[in-house]
Amino acid sequence: MPSNGRSANSAARSASRPVRESFDVVITAQRAVLPDGEQSCAIAVAGGRIAAIEPLSQRPPAHRTVTLTDDVVVLPGLVDSHVHICEPGNTDWEGFATASLAAAAGGVTTLVDMPLDCVPTTTDVAALEVKQASARGQCHVDVGFWGGVVPGNLEELSALSDAGVLGFKCFLVDSGSDEFPPVSAAEMEQALSVLADTELPLLVHAESAEVATALPMVNSAHYPDYLRARPRGIENLAVAQVIEAARRTGGHAHICHLSSSDAVPMLRSAQLEQVRITAETCPHYLALCAEDIADGMTTLKCSPPIRERANQGPLWNALGSGVIDAVVSDHSPCTPSMRQAASGDFGAAWGGIASLQLGLPVVWTAASARGFSLSAVARWMSEGPARLAGLPTKGGIEVGMDADFCVLAPEERFEVEAGRLAHRHPGTPYDGRSLLGVVRETWLRGRPIDRSEARGQLLSGRGRP
Ligand SMILES: [Zn+2]
Repeated sequence: MPSNGRSANSAARSASRPVRESFDVVITAQRAVLPDGEQSCAIAVAGGRIAAIEPLSQRPPAHRTVTLTDDVVVLPGLVDSHVHICEPGNTDWEGFATASLAAAAGGVTTLVDMPLDCVPTTTDVAALEVKQASARGQCHVDVGFWGGVVPGNLEELSALSDAGVLGFKCFLVDSGSDEFPPVSAAEMEQALSVLADTELPLLVHAESAEVATALPMVNSAHYPDYLRARPRGIENLAVAQVIEAARRTGGHAHICHLSSSDAVPMLRSAQLEQVRITAETCPHYLALCAEDIADGMTTLKCSPPIRERANQGPLWNALGSGVIDAVVSDHSPCTPSMRQAASGDFGAAWGGIASLQLGLPVVWTAASARGFSLSAVARWMSEGPARLAGLPTKGGIEVGMDADFCVLAPEERFEVEAGRLAHRHPGTPYDGRSLLGVVRETWLRGRPIDRSEARGQLLSGRGRP
């Protein structure tokens, strides 16, 4: 596994004058999203890393020059830190080859895989090794792994950290999988205590089991019935518990897939008080709303659920202010039969939205309508998730970072055809939608990704004590 040691930083961009020889390739871009905004520049690559960034007028010589037209923008390769790849064990749901090809087609160059929905679940080192072995040689983008926290495995966390996980994930409510049981709020706090002296985050599925058990089970094809069974309060209580556990322990807690905008003020005040708490949300909470979900549309079932239109604005505001600093897919696929399409029963259907390949255009379509820039989208979909996962060579176009790029035509529209997606199964709620932003090319370590060659590497975590 490669080390992720930082070898340079943004200061080098202006301070250094590159050695004017032997760059492998120079990309001349009329538009590139750099850390300080969008600008034209020449990006020089050597050995798979960004070696220099210069004004177009000072384009360095290279073995090869790629000249991009002004209808495309170079973004840092996206980092999707919340993906359920399901292999090994449920490879008929998704797998490393299909997920990484879908990622590449969607401008994503780094995936971090969740520790459940696979067999075995990633809750000890032996299971991590099984997963690494099954991933090796079939990934088209780089892939890292989260470890799992389940009741009784606290003593495994140190060994899992040493073995390379990027951090940990736990559930406070039934995960839907008997192999990955939830922890209590007290156990979640214990895990944060164990991790407090490390840089590794604990990602929390923040829905409260206490609230959930007091609500009726739903067997209905009517979406409002499902929504009533997972009200905002189910998240609000859990988020409050996570914040207070992070405050007491000093550990870094991260709220997965925040849907309830009620929780934003709590997060903001805790962040102002220097509590180590961060949060992500997902494209579906930003672009879709409950009022538009027809009866039986079980491809839109997820938990926490997609909420009312009025919930959306505050989530966007939280992204604008930085309270939420990442947008990730929570790509959670399954076989078509698990969707219960015949009955349309939201209670029986598998929860999870398949959207890995479409995250960028879904978010960009909605973000641009609200006046956000591509720089903001890159912060949420590349820089933020890379920071969470502790990957200093990912998440930005800066000297020293991996030469991972997404070449996007941001003004071009396309219509989603689910059957043409690279996901293992075509089920996606975005089928037939018109979206803005076509990914023309995705580069991994200085070269466009070519589906005939699986060049993705397995990423190792910080592993620091
Ligand atoms: Zn998930």
